[in-house]
Amino acid sequence: MPKLRCICGYIFDLTPIPDEGYVVIRNYDYERYIEDEVFRDKSHLISKDSEECGKLIEADKLVVNLSGSLYECPDCGSLIWHRSNSTYSYYDLRVGRRAYKFDKLKAHSEENIGSGVELVRIRDLEKKLNVSLPEDFVAYLQEMNYAEIHGDPIYGIHNDMPSIDIAEQNIGKEHFRYGFLEIFCNDIDGTIFLRPDNGRIYNASFQEPIADSFKKFVEMLLM
Ligand SMILES: [Zn+2]
Repeated sequence: MPKLRCICGYIFDLTPIPDEGYVVIRNYDYERYIEDEVFRDKSHLISKDSEECGKLIEADKLVVNLSGSLYECPDCGSLIWHRSNSTYSYYDLRVGRRAYKFDKLKAHSEENIGSGVELVRIRDLEKKLNVSLPEDFVAYLQEMNYAEIHGDPIYGIHNDMPSIDIAEQNIGKEHFRYGFLEIFCNDIDGTIFLRPDNGRIYNASFQEPIADSFKKFVEMLLM
């Protein structure tokens, strides 16, 4: 069966059609691609020897030539781009992710550190929330998913602990409808929110951001 191997060793199974990858089409090829697809959709109406049959073969070729596919590794987040009729390009994004170092937080939280969750579970959470999370927060979830700041836990993906589960604390809540994702809470700072659209951190006044990013927020509390 057809397989594709990521740089990290993860194996994509390409047997199912359609598979889990993305179809990539250039913006300026898109109209043509759709026209060809519509034409191919009527292929069962075309008889073998007709002139239309030749057109159908051309349309088949075009559809293949105009589209490529893209795969995001659920383990390491790297991308594999298969351009049409060409080789596979590998984009190693493991280094970029590791660039978000949370050494200070790890040292501070000591043994109260989680071991992280798989990227696929983070992508599931994003789907559930209908947002994309900023890279630094994704890195935190991937690396730890649990860490404490002065004894108070940062939220994560925890089905067994609703009080610090991101989905549980946000879905259906009013603050979330206004674009604020609750991620932390303590006695001094109150409830803390992340805005997925700009990556910034806010307190419950919902006025000016108190930090430009999740990482900066963590560093600020640890100062
Ligand atoms: Zn990978």
